[in-house]
Amino acid sequence: MDCPPFSPSIRILPSQLADQIAAGEVIERPASVLKELMENALDAGATRIDVELRLGGMEVIRVTDNGHGISGQELPLAISRHATSKISCLDDLLQLQSLGFRGEALASICSVSQWEISSRRQAEDHAFSLRHDQPKQLLPVNHALGTSIWVRKLFYNTPARRKFLRAERTEFRHCDDVFRRMALARFDVGFYLKHNGRQLQRLPAVSDDVGRSRRVAQLCGQAFVKNSLLIDFPHADMRLWGWISQPGYSRQQTDQQYFYINGRIIRDRVINHAMRQAYQACLGPGRHAAYVLHLELDPASVDVNVHPTKHEVRFREARQIHDFLIRCLRQSLQRDAALTRPTMSDRIGEQAQDYAKPQLAGESQSVSSSDSLAGGQSWFGQVQAVLLDRFIVTQSPQALFLLDVSRIQALLSVWQWQQAYRQDQIKQRPMLIPQRLQLNLNQRQQYVRQQRLLTGLGFDLTQLGPGELLLRAVPSWLQGFDSQRLLLALLANEVDEQAVFGLIETQLLLQQYDLNGIDFRRWLQRVAAERDKLADCWRVLSEADLRHWLNQAPAHD
Ligand code: ADP
Ligand code: MG
Repeated sequence: MDCPPFSPSIRILPSQLADQIAAGEVIERPASVLKELMENALDAGATRIDVELRLGGMEVIRVTDNGHGISGQELPLAISRHATSKISCLDDLLQLQSLGFRGEALASICSVSQWEISSRRQAEDHAFSLRHDQPKQLLPVNHALGTSIWVRKLFYNTPARRKFLRAERTEFRHCDDVFRRMALARFDVGFYLKHNGRQLQRLPAVSDDVGRSRRVAQLCGQAFVKNSLLIDFPHADMRLWGWISQPGYSRQQTDQQYFYINGRIIRDRVINHAMRQAYQACLGPGRHAAYVLHLELDPASVDVNVHPTKHEVRFREARQIHDFLIRCLRQSLQRDAALTRPTMSDRIGEQAQDYAKPQLAGESQSVSSSDSLAGGQSWFGQVQAVLLDRFIVTQSPQALFLLDVSRIQALLSVWQWQQAYRQDQIKQRPMLIPQRLQLNLNQRQQYVRQQRLLTGLGFDLTQLGPGELLLRAVPSWLQGFDSQRLLLALLANEVDEQAVFGLIETQLLLQQYDLNGIDFRRWLQRVAAERDKLADCWRVLSEADLRHWLNQAPAHD
């Protein structure tokens, strides 16, 4: 499309363009289309959903359901922006029963793909269809009760977005993730998945614990179900049920953590915090619990209208929910394993075991004169204990060491980042959920000045409005740190290229590094390689020091 010559006059955007802009918020890749279409099918009361993909969803995404369908008359409306059958007033929004409510998904999807939609509504004799090349012309077609939506060639008309699509395998993996999440959300619905003509999943609807556990095993693995507890806690107007891993089963990643609120998958700080705390006493550092949990509560007590992708929520009584979760989980875990709170020495024992991995055990731990990392062994020896989520005690044959992980990590991160910046090799890590940031007046002014610098440092920021930014990606060296906090601190100061890394260092040294997910063995090798430069971040412990530290470490509660 040719752009008209620049002129300062204000005009209403053509609706196709407005839809494409809106699509930027919700449709990031094939998996986001799949999510929206499957949510619509569930909202339509489907008991069976068939998904067919080609080329990881980049070429074709087709979702067929047996829900209540859309009448021919309403088909054009369904693909219009801000058209929804799910809410009609603010009160409905506060009492949301459906997954969708924004009335934007179909309009967005249709603005960036070649699509076709066919549907037959219960009361009607015929099915009707609409296609992207004749969006106004309703055609009678054959179709069973329910709806089929084909989405072909996603982003064919927005090449800039198409460029961001990844390899087929990656896009398929994202779609597969969405499919799994949906299938774990609703056991009473059958889900079927085909990719490039191959049937990959067949999950008939189930209605009892045996059937539900079978589905969980199919999607999360037999090992998880075997090593998990099936829990069910009804409590006043809430209910928590699902599968939680037993203390003996843990994972290196958080990839098997599914949490649903009223059937909607969510990622939420309050929930994550509660889950981590509930498991804290029984998992070593860097290990994660696995769970498929459903929390059912009064829709009025949770606000899902926080973010376009609807993954975030806001609770009216966050504290109450947090504590309820911890209570239920601890009770189950303790009942199961008669788990008593481990003493400090138990914990040290466990962690020592955890780190005494085969490569390290039995190897010579002598430190050669050149202090080389013989056989992958770190100069600092092995981790014996983690204190206050910040320090580690390690033991080599020569000595015990106390290392300040947060401080070390802050310095290592800043050095690496600075080097990459100088060499123009900045790496970014996309945020799981892009974050909105509110700026005060000073930060707004700073943003105008620092915008280029921040982009150069690896922050991907889009201005949403005056004083509001969307943070989509952060420099990868910030993993484990609170990057938003850092960003806001940068914006609170007058900084330039010369001074910025000094400020970053100060800020990161103030933060506590998140030990979750750290692979201490590799990390210790890195630290050992830089140990002279990091000398003020670690010290040799005497026995008295150790005693002092062990007494100071609070019981994990
Ligand atoms: P929302 O789900 O937020 O209402 P959408 O753009 O996803 O917005 O869909 C618009 C409307 O189209 C829905 O409110 C619903 O009435 C109708 N619709 C979409 N998909 C289906 C479907 N699979 N079955 C029945 N109705 C549907
Ligand atoms: Mg929808």
